[in-house]
Amino acid sequence: MILGRQRRSSRAARWLLALSACGGDVSDGAQSSSASGASSTGAGTSGTIAGTATTTAAESTTSRTDVASASAGSSGADGSSSTGEPPADEGLQVRFLGVGGFSLRYRDAQVLSPPMYSNPDVLSVEFGDIAADPARVAAFLEPGSLSDTSAILVGHAHYDHLLDVPLLWEATAAATIYGNTSVRNLMLAAGVPERALVAVDDPAVALADMRMCPDDMCTGLAAGTEGAWIELPGARARALCSEHPDQIFGIVHFAPGCVDTVPMPLPTAADQWREGATMAFLVDFFEPGTRTIAFRVYVQDAPTNAPLGFPHDSLLDEHAIDLAVLNVGSWENVSDHPGAFIAAFAPRYVLGGHWEDFFRPQDQPLQPIPLQAPPEDFDAAALAALGDEPQPPVWVDGASVQARYFRPVPGTDFVFPPP
Ligand SMILES: [Zn+2]
Repeated sequence: MILGRQRRSSRAARWLLALSACGGDVSDGAQSSSASGASSTGAGTSGTIAGTATTTAAESTTSRTDVASASAGSSGADGSSSTGEPPADEGLQVRFLGVGGFSLRYRDAQVLSPPMYSNPDVLSVEFGDIAADPARVAAFLEPGSLSDTSAILVGHAHYDHLLDVPLLWEATAAATIYGNTSVRNLMLAAGVPERALVAVDDPAVALADMRMCPDDMCTGLAAGTEGAWIELPGARARALCSEHPDQIFGIVHFAPGCVDTVPMPLPTAADQWREGATMAFLVDFFEPGTRTIAFRVYVQDAPTNAPLGFPHDSLLDEHAIDLAVLNVGSWENVSDHPGAFIAAFAPRYVLGGHWEDFFRPQDQPLQPIPLQAPPEDFDAAALAALGDEPQPPVWVDGASVQARYFRPVPGTDFVFPPP
């Protein structure tokens, strides 16, 4: 099936962006934590490769294979081997699924930031009709991979975060979808049952933490509202009020506003999937049977101007952030992103997501979102902000990599070590 073919062919490609990030770092000097044996073999060329990979399919295939083979036999800076089995049970397992999609798992607890697989083309988005494509979702979604998912956390209601959520939800056993009121209304129109939907900014539930923002632009949920943890099996999540930047040249804002009522029928015009009040999420995974936090993950699906979208200080008392999943797309249209977040919270590891062109299916050669600043500049900013404090190596597709920052290609599997 397409999934198998795509996953095999991209096996080497998944290395590309971890290494391109490392390569950028190494070429800047040895100041970053990712300067290591794991990346140094390919470092002299990987920065260039990251650029040329977007040029043509043939060129990128060759380059990616070179990078993968160059790194395959290397060891981490601490002498760790690049062979052997990753410590999956002890680590935080993360798979990048494409666009804003990340599967987060610790032991039996799984939480999803939803991907989009349908990826309608740009003409359909701008001038035509869009709809979820069940064949593409079936092709790219690994069967059974979402069966343990207890929560689908949606940061805002733009179609690139929400279009496939009904099909993703059907692939879970009984997940609940958490998002803003626009998410809830669109999902009701799509046929998702009300029992599976929670609007975190609905004043009746007041789950969203509004301490870092003005009043909610859609529901009026008051600034200063503390919100509450969403309790999940083996985990918990906190919705954090955030914001959504302009997307194109810092002046065009696609589909702003709110979906205040259930829009029947479900809109086929992309700009009717109005974003609503944007949220980020803090996710804690517990040691089994306890309230001891094993891993804390911050997930955003839109870049923000600090301090919007940041966790309130009081939330950081219990546990620092182990992994920050930061949004690359439109990053140039906010101030000091990702530097401000990394400086404020010093996450042990950072993943950059939502960077690739989502106007075509993910089995096409990867290229960045059109009309945006180069993601390589985001990589450089993230690496500079992370500095040179080392962390244990990360398992990336089964190999040990000494790095703290990755901008992965879809399908990449990570195992992050415990603190
Ligand atoms: Zn958006």
